[in-house]
Amino acid sequence: MLRFAPSPTGDMHIGNLRVAILNYLVAKQRGERFLIRIEDTDTQRNIEGKDQEILEILQKFGLEYDDVVYQSQNFSFHQNFAKKLLQEHKAFPCFCTPEELQAQRQKAKEQKRPYRYSGKCENSTLEEAAQKKEPFVVRIKKPQGPIAFYDLIKGDLHFEPKEVDSFVILRADGRPTYNFACAIDDMLYDISLVIRGEDHVSNTPKQIHVQRALGYDKKIEYAHLPIILNSEGKKMSKRESASSVKWLLEEGFLPQAIANYLILLGNKTPKEVFTLQEAIEWFDLSALSKAPARFDMEKLRFINRAHLEKLTPQELAQKLGIHESLGALAKLYLEEASTLKELKTKLDAIFGQKDFGEFEKEAKILKEHILAMELPQSFESFKKELMAKSGLRGKRFFKPLRLLLTGAPHGPEISQLYPLLKDHIKGIVQ
Ligand code: GLU
Repeated sequence: MLRFAPSPTGDMHIGNLRVAILNYLVAKQRGERFLIRIEDTDTQRNIEGKDQEILEILQKFGLEYDDVVYQSQNFSFHQNFAKKLLQEHKAFPCFCTPEELQAQRQKAKEQKRPYRYSGKCENSTLEEAAQKKEPFVVRIKKPQGPIAFYDLIKGDLHFEPKEVDSFVILRADGRPTYNFACAIDDMLYDISLVIRGEDHVSNTPKQIHVQRALGYDKKIEYAHLPIILNSEGKKMSKRESASSVKWLLEEGFLPQAIANYLILLGNKTPKEVFTLQEAIEWFDLSALSKAPARFDMEKLRFINRAHLEKLTPQELAQKLGIHESLGALAKLYLEEASTLKELKTKLDAIFGQKDFGEFEKEAKILKEHILAMELPQSFESFKKELMAKSGLRGKRFFKPLRLLLTGAPHGPEISQLYPLLKDHIKGIVQ
């Protein structure tokens, strides 16, 4: 089974979405189940409603999942496993106060060395904890030897016991920490491969250590995806609007185009424009680049336009929320726009208030004749008749006519627009 494990603590970032998409692809390729695990252990940071928002986004992207579980439902399992580790002296109660630990952290920082737990409570026991009646956290004892694993993207990785450290597995209120809950849940749901962001690389040896301490010997595979950089080559922050999936959707990028683009990132694919279904056929996780991927808005726009072009006029009209009869017109305007929002702006200009600038007088003349005319089928006849009636020629004819019909000084050929606009023209020029 594969899993996508979002924390309901903020908006979905394109990095998270990319993780979800790749997990989905590999689950489909391997014929394994795909689980969504909402990681809600950090109750203070959870935001009400974010879980639903994440699930809706996954649905919008066609990432079908087999089940949804909440990590908090498993707290009793986490606590029982912590108890087992305590009884076997693989974990210990730690009575160090937050102030004490903070001072040690501060000292490490001043001495420019990484903070490690002092080991002070390493020999304390459950019995002692029962007598003391003081608050305590539970820490797992650091491993005896190094922990190594093979990452499908990064290759062989190796961590020393001191890097794993004797870390906290249960907080003072009995809630599990992220690393502990994650290790247990990956075990409970029989996860075969974990695909996640590279920011989790240093968590992996901790999670493997927990599983080994509990005697779990199934080998879980890992693949840590390189981070996404912005156009300046810096880590793409959550505050950059283009990193928010919600923002991209609001801007009028299609889910299938965003998914296509995220699969292309740091990847060599047999083609550039494809669907999720096609990617299932050839996607190769181990071929992903180890180097960070750079987010390229222009490329995303190009891919989005390619997907907009694949839509039928009816589908496009539906996505734009306009009448079906305007779908073909919208398709023509794809020459000029790369997102639904841009397309909508162009179409709105056709039906909205218009500014004729220096051609105010000519526009008025054309409008009166158009309203009085029987509109012919072909643009050629329309043009001839209107020229004859208005007496206007050259740019004094074409410029105001374009503005009158489209609300913009440039755009697709009027001869191409005319048949698509014909049935609406009298309303448009009003
Ligand atoms: N909840 C973690 C996150 O959102 C994911 C952890 C994981 O995939 O193991 O970054």
